Amino acid sequence: MIIDCHGHYTSEPPAFLEYRKQQVAALKDPSKAPGPLRISDDEIREKLEPAQLKFQRERGTDVTIFSPRASAMGHHVGDAVMSVAWTRVCNDMIHRIVNLYPKNFIGVCQLPQSPGVPPANCIPELERCVKELGFVGCNLNPDPSGGYWKEPPLTDKWWYPVYEKMVELEVPAMVHVTATCNPAFHTTGSHYLNADTAAFMQFLTSDLFKDFPTLKFVIPHGGGAVPYHWGRYRGMAQDLKRPPLAELLLNNVYFDTCVYHQPGIDLLVKVIPADNILFASEMVGAVKGIDPETGNYFDDTRRYVDGAAGLSAEDKRKIFEGNALKVYPRLSKQISRQTSSARA
Ligand SMILES: [Zn+2]
Repeated sequence: MIIDCHGHYTSEPPAFLEYRKQQVAALKDPSKAPGPLRISDDEIREKLEPAQLKFQRERGTDVTIFSPRASAMGHHVGDAVMSVAWTRVCNDMIHRIVNLYPKNFIGVCQLPQSPGVPPANCIPELERCVKELGFVGCNLNPDPSGGYWKEPPLTDKWWYPVYEKMVELEVPAMVHVTATCNPAFHTTGSHYLNADTAAFMQFLTSDLFKDFPTLKFVIPHGGGAVPYHWGRYRGMAQDLKRPPLAELLLNNVYFDTCVYHQPGIDLLVKVIPADNILFASEMVGAVKGIDPETGNYFDDTRRYVDGAAGLSAEDKRKIFEGNALKVYPRLSKQISRQTSSARA
């Protein structure tokens, strides 16, 4: 089985986008508040079929761990009450999609974070998504300010209530920022990758995983700049009298394969142990086009893993399937549950 651990719902029907537009407009003018969201199953299918589903079929991947569009989480927009309302709408939409296509998608939730608001406020929605909707993980934003980095580092006790709940529920988090409102950063081109790199360095300098030995994070986008600078990080850990990286964080931190060219994946698999790499594509959206050098979609990451020199068949099985089942402890049961519901 090929499990894509990083997909977002980026093929929303126009009514969904309009709903959010009205919700944001209502911040200034409450008369613009949206009515109930009305979208038919057919409208959902119509947009999803020629996008995520088409690419799954063409590329021969089986199931995508699917969450709301990350750049639209918009934690910095409005207040905590609005973030809760929007997050519920987004997560409910993922749940509908999972019900429409139980063999193709497994749900992961966005969290109702809000700048300056203790992340403990996310616990009710996390519990709802895991216990009631069957989701297997969450996306955790280390910077709800949208590019101004005002929150304590992920290793601060500020975040501990969420970690306690994640451990209890056996769900990992993907470290994932939303759009940036800081014009110095481009959302997908720098803000995402900066956040991945920043989170790793926070983990390196802390004893978070002594406090939470089973807590797990996926750092997406190939780990930002981390694998490329692995020597720097190993050296810094040594200078700081930290344990070697493998001991310090490789039982808890994983990297995905959302690196959109062969040399990038070759480096990733050479530097990072195969046990810590999860297959992912982040399709559709981050980079939509076709690479003129190869004639293939940039985000067709299965080709790069298939083509990576030095990966044994066993390593590939881990990257495509085994590691995801390990990092998302609820995944295996949820796949069985959804497969049998699809048959029924
Ligand atoms: Zn993403």
